[in-house]
Amino acid sequence: MTESTPLRPSAARMINLIEESLEEQHDLLRNKVAGYCGCTQCKDDVLTMALNQIRPRYTSGARRGSVITRAELQQEQARAEIMVVVLEAMRKVAAAPRHLPKG
Ligand SMILES: [Zn+2]
Repeated sequence: MTESTPLRPSAARMINLIEESLEEQHDLLRNKVAGYCGCTQCKDDVLTMALNQIRPRYTSGARRGSVITRAELQQEQARAEIMVVVLEAMRKVAAAPRHLPKG
């Protein structure tokens, strides 16, 4: 029998899961914030800002150290938190976009 691979949290994978959810929320909400343009630059800014504000989550107990699962990300509470953070980031970016205003 081969030795099992040591369990260690994969930060990259966890961030990817959160990013995926963030992007989904971004696309759902982009039309709901007045003045938010939603171009690639603005989207990158919103996702970066939101990622910096969302605490990474780890499961507890027996699955200590494992990354949050896709199912857990689907939970209403997590989605609501992500939605609030994305909306707030969109408002900030809409108020001060880094690209030049459209002519
Ligand atoms: Zn833009």
